[in-house]
Amino acid sequence: MTVEFKSLHDLFEAMPDEMAAINYFKSISWKNGERCPYCGHDKVYSFATGKVWKCAECRQRFSIRIGTIFEDSKIPLRKWLAAIWLITSHRKGITSTQIARDLNVTQKTGWFILHRLRHAARTRSFNRQLRGTVEVDEAYFGGKENKHVKPKAIASAKSSSRLGVG
Ligand SMILES: [Zn+2]
Repeated sequence: MTVEFKSLHDLFEAMPDEMAAINYFKSISWKNGERCPYCGHDKVYSFATGKVWKCAECRQRFSIRIGTIFEDSKIPLRKWLAAIWLITSHRKGITSTQIARDLNVTQKTGWFILHRLRHAARTRSFNRQLRGTVEVDEAYFGGKENKHVKPKAIASAKSSSRLGVG
């Protein structure tokens, strides 16, 4: 998954609120169409809020975060996406305290964000269950071995198109 912006400022301009972040994330994870995270069915109904969907098949309600590593945290998606941008922009590595400062969260939250994203990079998946995988380049999130990795490395169509596909 890539979060492509020239600067953190640009990212926050493009995502002034959580709704904008949801829409951005939606454009990435449902690139190939909407899909139920529970059963993989592709017919889902959206609610007026634009934040909740319901599957026509299994009738489950879900948000865009369900089934992803963002599912069980209260951290706004906007900050998660900014964190991904930060990590992938700091090619020599970034500390949790820096993330905390940049995102205006506590150091504990900064640590949580960093470790969860690193874990996602290591396991090459932003999805928590075996509904499909999104491949990310570990080196890109690393710090040591990423000198030769170009930013485009994790932007392959293969990677992003597989997110959320069950
Ligand atoms: Zn379903």
